[in-house]
Amino acid sequence: MSKPMDNAVEIMRKGGTLLGDKCPRCGGVQVKYKGRVLCIAEDDLSENLQATTVSNDATLSNLRNVIIEKIDVTSHAIEKENDVAKQAVLVDLLQKYVTLLKECEDDNESDTNSEES
Ligand SMILES: [Zn+2]
Repeated sequence: MSKPMDNAVEIMRKGGTLLGDKCPRCGGVQVKYKGRVLCIAEDDLSENLQATTVSNDATLSNLRNVIIEKIDVTSHAIEKENDVAKQAVLVDLLQKYVTLLKECEDDNESDTNSEES
């Protein structure tokens, strides 16, 4: 059995915030993490930590690298492409990659900014 307090500390380190309000059910400490309110005493914090660690840090930076690579490949393809119709498809694709990349970077920024204690 994992210690609830350790997980609470871990959640704070990953951008969670301690809430002033106590849990309405048990009076325990509550934390807000990834838009969810969790009770340290009752909720399985380690489960929440695992799920978000995988989907956030590793996967996002991985995705970012993939997108950057694709942007590079696609922009070179546009450069060489003379067919306007094909260029349009590539530009559309490039636009989607850039949007996706921006979204990844925004997520990452909010993570590092919220690290305060
Ligand atoms: Zn509770």
